Amino acid sequence: MKMPKKIYTNCPYCKKKTEHTIERVKKGPQSGLKWINRQKSRRGGIGNMGKFSKVPGGDKPTKRVNIRYICNECKKAHLRKGFRVSKFELEE
Ligand SMILES: [Zn+2]
Repeated sequence: MKMPKKIYTNCPYCKKKTEHTIERVKKGPQSGLKWINRQKSRRGGIGNMGKFSKVPGGDKPTKRVNIRYICNECKKAHLRKGFRVSKFELEE
């Protein structure tokens, strides 16, 4: 999926339609103390670990993409619900 870097959409702070710059939200560093990490180290994984998955490696083919919308008028950012795509690109 390709998306333009600038879109014209509603700003919840200005309460009107303004131009927004799009930025992809990146994953922060994992703390390593989350429940899933402790479970994985304790008994080598959860469930079937992708063994019977249709996808080799057991990883899902699509990833959720979160996008940050930065208003060009008030410079405030807001998020919307992410969607799942296999490939995500930003273009001019
Ligand atoms: Zn705004």
